[in-house]
Amino acid sequence: MPQKVCKKCSAISETEKDFCPECGASYLEAKKEELIGVSPGTRFLSYLLESVLATVTLGIGWLIWAATLSGTGQTPGKKIMGLTVIDEQTKKPMTMGRMFWMRGIVAGFVAQIGIFFTLGILLFMPFWDKRNQNLWDRISASIVVNTQEVS
Ligand SMILES: [Zn+2]
Repeated sequence: MPQKVCKKCSAISETEKDFCPECGASYLEAKKEELIGVSPGTRFLSYLLESVLATVTLGIGWLIWAATLSGTGQTPGKKIMGLTVIDEQTKKPMTMGRMFWMRGIVAGFVAQIGIFFTLGILLFMPFWDKRNQNLWDRISASIVVNTQEVS
């Protein structure tokens, strides 16, 4: 029998059923409490802001600014918009290594190819993704949330 922990009453039960035998709360319901990213519109604005910032600072200023934000899960555009990239599992801000290598380099590279071959359509992925994620969020197992939601 699988052991299940009830999110509502914290009882540990051995049951095949989908609900807690102690209080009747559904285990499925609890699982559905998934993290949802910020709205696609907000994501889109942050893409725009990021490119404007990178352009006006000739790229260099943006990089230096981004370096000062390392470990916070933020980039200059996200900082201004009050957004943070967090790990889907731990819900903690992305570490500098993962932010840079996984999200920036690996996911960024794959996403560029995807965006190119879909003629840019993939850039709008948060608009149809159920958790408002784009391709590089998926690849790097991250999600963008409002900074005040980060514990
Ligand atoms: Zn229960």
